[in-house]
Amino acid sequence: MTDFIRFDRINKFYGPLCVVENLDLGIAKGEFVSLLGPSGSGKTTLLMMLAGFERTTSGTILLDGTAINDVPTYKRDMGIVFQSYALFPHMSVGENVAFPLQMRGMGKTEIAERVAKALDMVQLSAYAERRPSQLSGGQQQRVALSRALVFEPRVVLMDEPLGALDKQLREQMQLDIRDLHRRLGLTIVFVTHDQSEALTMSDRVAVFNKGKIEQIGTPRQVYDEPATRFVAEFIGETN
Ligand code: ADP
Repeated sequence: MTDFIRFDRINKFYGPLCVVENLDLGIAKGEFVSLLGPSGSGKTTLLMMLAGFERTTSGTILLDGTAINDVPTYKRDMGIVFQSYALFPHMSVGENVAFPLQMRGMGKTEIAERVAKALDMVQLSAYAERRPSQLSGGQQQRVALSRALVFEPRVVLMDEPLGALDKQLREQMQLDIRDLHRRLGLTIVFVTHDQSEALTMSDRVAVFNKGKIEQIGTPRQVYDEPATRFVAEFIGETN
């Protein structure tokens, strides 16, 4: 199996503080991998380096076999969804979703087609003309998802995308994201501190502790055969 995304001996320091240490991780095309671990274990930092918002201190990040350390974010072709959905409040839902396409200089007709398709994907076609403030939290997060997918990115990065939602919405969105992953064959890297979310959604889970991966495996492997005491205790905790 060749890796679509490869982290090769990544180190990240903030001053004297090492937040990611000599980390290796390979992710296959079409795989859904969760980075799971307690707060401060380096998950977001790794995702930010993959997105190009943070630089590595050392090591190489490869995408489809090419080193991308020096490639700027907008050329990495990644859809990004954060916990705070960061929609533009002064634009309609449709305009929000169209924004990444306009940034790429796409023509109006194609933009309209793609936006319609992307909103349909998250079942929000009827809301195109509304402002984000007229939508519920879950709907806003679906707009953010639609905006991240509209340019058909090679990879989708999600950082605690469901953290702000109540339990019922979160569970619905978990199903929606799983469904999109399967239907579109997306490669997803998903940051969460929620064990059950990682275990139910992912093909594989990487358990982080202090800037290192303690164990990577299928949900079943991580759950049934924890490799270290830390993994056993962290997976065993209830939220
Ligand atoms: P997680 O996503 O697992 O909660 P983070 O990657 O956000 O962890 O943070 C890992 C560590 O790096 C934490 O100790 C955090 O305080 C530190 N950190 C993150 N960003 C910065 C920054 N810009 N400057 C200094 N330290 C940072």
